This record gives sequence, C-alpha cells and structure tokens, in this order.
Amino acid sequence: MSREQLVVQRARKSFHTGKTKPLEYRVHQLKSLLRFISDRRRDIADAVKRDLGKSEHGTELFETLGLEGEIKLAIEKLSEWAAPRPVEKNLLTITDEVYVQPEPLGVVLIIGAWNYPWAVTLQPLVGAIAAGNAAVIKPSEVSSHSAKVMEELLPQYLDKDLYPVVTGGVSETQELLKQRFDHIFYTGSSVVGKLVMEAAARHLTPVTLELGGKSPCYIDKNCDITVACRRITWGKFVNCGQTCIAPDYVLCEPSVQSRVVEEINKSIKEFYTDNPKTFEDYGRIINQRHFKRVMSLMEGSTVAVGGDSDESQCYIGPTVLKDVTGESKVMKEEIFGPLLPIITVSGVEEAIQFINEREKPLVVYVFSNDNKLIKRVIAETSSGALLANDCLVHFTVSALPFGGVGNSGMGCYHGRHSFDQLSHLRSCLIKQLKMEGINSMRYPPHTAKKLGWARFFLLKHVNVCRLRRMALLAMFTGLAAFVVPHFIR
Ligand code: NAD
Repeated sequence: MSREQLVVQRARKSFHTGKTKPLEYRVHQLKSLLRFISDRRRDIADAVKRDLGKSEHGTELFETLGLEGEIKLAIEKLSEWAAPRPVEKNLLTITDEVYVQPEPLGVVLIIGAWNYPWAVTLQPLVGAIAAGNAAVIKPSEVSSHSAKVMEELLPQYLDKDLYPVVTGGVSETQELLKQRFDHIFYTGSSVVGKLVMEAAARHLTPVTLELGGKSPCYIDKNCDITVACRRITWGKFVNCGQTCIAPDYVLCEPSVQSRVVEEINKSIKEFYTDNPKTFEDYGRIINQRHFKRVMSLMEGSTVAVGGDSDESQCYIGPTVLKDVTGESKVMKEEIFGPLLPIITVSGVEEAIQFINEREKPLVVYVFSNDNKLIKRVIAETSSGALLANDCLVHFTVSALPFGGVGNSGMGCYHGRHSFDQLSHLRSCLIKQLKMEGINSMRYPPHTAKKLGWARFFLLKHVNVCRLRRMALLAMFTGLAAFVVPHFIR
C-alpha cells in the first residue's frame, strides 16, 4: 500500500468516527490553526523569503492576514452557516418542515500552488474544517521551503489523522489523485486542472478548480490616469507578478499609451526605488524554469520600462512592454511574472471585443470615471470577477465568491462560500402521517378533476408569509368578534 493510500485511508477512518460532526470540535481545530499562524509567523515568513524572496511584512500582508480573517469569520459564523436553512414552501408542503441541512462531504483533497503557498493551501482548509470534513493537504513542491515547514509544523497543531500534509512532486500528486475523495480542491494552472478533473471523473468526485488566465485591464482615457496607474503598478508587480489575479495586460487608446507608460514608471520608482533588485519588498521569480519562461515572453516586444534581469538570482525587474498586439508572444499565455504589455485599442467597444475573443479570465479590470462605461463592461463581458478602479482587493471581501468561470476555473470559495462549497446541501422534507385525503389527487386512477386540483396545488404561487399573516388576521378578527361583544354586554 502506498503512503498516499494509507494517509487517505486513515483520514477516512477517522472521519467515519463522527469526530468532525460537533461544531465545537471544528471550532477547536480552527482555533488551533489560528494559533499555528501566530506561533509560527517567523517560520512561515522565513520559508516564504527562501521560496519567493518576500519580506516578512509582505508575507503577513499577502499570505497570513487574509487567512486569519477567514478563520476568525468561520469561528464566529459557524453555527449560523451549519444551521438548518428553512426554504419557501408550496401549498402541498405548507404544514411540513422543509429545509436545507448542510452536511460534511467526507475526505477532501486540497492541492495548493506555489505563488502564495500558505494562502492558497490553507484557505480552502478553513472551509474544509468548518464544513466538518477530513482533508488531505498537498502543498506545491515548487515552493519547497513552505511545503517542508507545513509538513513539519502543522501536525503539531491539527489532528494528524484528519488533516495530514502530504509532500512530494508530480508523482505523489498523481498517486493521491488515484485515491477516492469526496471533493478535490485544486489551485494551479488550467493544464493541470484538466488532469485533476480527469482523475476526479473516475470516482465521480466533484472538483473546485481555482485556475489562472490572462486578466485584462482597460484604462478609459478620461479617468484619473495617475491614480489608475498607481493601483495597476501595485496589482501587477506585487509578488513579482506571480499573482493569479494580477492584471495580465493593459488595453488603452493610443493617445494615452505614453502617459500610461510614464505614470507606471513613476509608480515603480515610488514603490520599489530606482533599484528594485536591492529593495526588500521586490521579490524573485520562483525558479529558473519560470525565469526562462517569463524572459522568453518578451521576445518580439518593445521594452518601454525595465527589462533588466539576473538569472543567477531569478530576478526580473518590473517591465512595461508597449505597442504589443494580440499576436505577440507575450499574449499567447498567462504571463505570471513582472511584464506588463500595453495593447492599444480604439475605445471600449474594441476592448470588449478583444476580451471576448479570448478565454474567460479570472478578473476583468476597468478604470473609468464613467459609471455607464463600467456597467457596459460588466454587461458585455464575462469573467470570474469584475473590479473597477482598483486591483486585487475583491479578494479581501469574504462575502464575494472567489473563483473563475470557463477556462479560469469552476466553483468558488471565501467566507461562507468555502463552507457551502465543501458541504453537501441536503434537502430535508418532514411530513406527518396525517392529512392523507389531500394525497388522493396523486393516486390512481388519474382523472381530469384530480389533475385540476394538482394544477392548483402545484402551480399556484402562494406567498406563505402573506398567507400566514392573513390567517393570523382572520384569527384575531374572529377572536375580536367573539370577545368584544362579550365585554360590551
Ligand atoms: P504548481 O506547479 O505548483 O502546480 C500546482 C499543483 O499541481 C502542485 O501541488 C503540483 O504538485 C500539482 N501538479 C503539477 N503537475 C501535475 C501533474 N502533471 N499531475 C498532477 N498534479 C500536478 O503551480 P502552477 O500550476 O505553476 O501554478 C500557477 C497557476 O496557478 C497560474 O496559472 C495561476 O494563475 C494559478 N493560480 C490560481 C489561483 C486562484 O486562486 N485561481 C491562485 C494561485 C495560482
């Protein structure tokens, strides 16, 4: 029996003891996860520094702060999320108990990516624990230092059987994917996403795929270009451009291209100094393979800003490419690095057409003062999310479902969405063995009269609240009619 098989078997056995059913148990595990983050802040920051060259404060801001928020929210709201959810009834079920009961799915496999190795691996875990599941955690082997710390330290805080960490590369992930899970939550590229879905199909296992893609960013010529470019510079170059929701490329009119270049250049200097290479808040490309891949994407494009690199350090400076076309090499795949191409279009109409000719992205960004233009982009494009006049921050709103559509993924998470995504929403209908007479309309022989009644009961839309109010009113009126004359006498 392989290690992976054993781990899954142990998790399932432990899940079947029913240990995760009580909410107190889940809250206890969530609190332990919170304690892990605060106790091991330094270990986490050191690992991320070695993986991605990120500063300690940068790691807290972009990796663990959101995670802490998600855990605290789950602890606070768990009893509300897990409670039965009454639903609207029809005339036939008016006296019955009708509700949705969230229940745990079983054993979840969480496959994380390397770019935010803690956030994208442990945020789904928050949902898995809150929903009462066991979860096998597979951090990305590419961010090896983070994976090692996770493997060594997390079991000191969480139940080892229910939430095991499995490290390893592609072959270990493939071995895990052969096992039967009740849900697979994958974060990574679309290419591997397809393999994950194929493996899941063999067991009819549902999947959440948090993938990537090329998120466009349209700048309207009438907006405040200085502020727009500041926010775009931040969204693009944080984590060296290795952010799934980073603006991948800019679309703007030719008349503002040089202004956009100039403003982004100014912001790069403001955020990362004249020498980003020695500045502690500018990171590194994860490895040589990705360094070479990103460098090769520049081929055939005109560098307007940056373009400097150092292979020995996996360093690529913040770079802006101008006069790029849809046919340029940099437009053929998700960049996932610090290159920002600018493509000129004649206006919003052409920008929308450009976006719609490509795969549905994770986010569409639009910068404009014109609310009508923003609403037009919302109405005429499709993407996982739309963010106007800022970058990335929709990620911080737990109430917004975070996820892709089409090639950028399926399913979503964050806040209650994580809980729902990793729960089975079970329909419950509890009737009494009374009022049998009303059922005769569905029993044979089927007659026109019975059908008429069935039509009335099933198709008549009733507002149950209004009906209840009317019944109460009738009761009070009846009571009043009886009691008032009694007192007047
Ligand atoms: P990666 O190489 O770390 O792969 C992700 C996971 O897939 C790893 O755990 C790895 O073990 C596994 N894997 C890799 N090859 C496999 C194979 N052949 N079979 C089975 N498993 C395999 O990460 P990546 O794919 O380079 O990640 C970058 C991508 O992830 C980008 O496209 C980015 O946009 C996307 N991403 C999306 C989100 C999101 O929330 N939507 C977040 C982060 C990253």
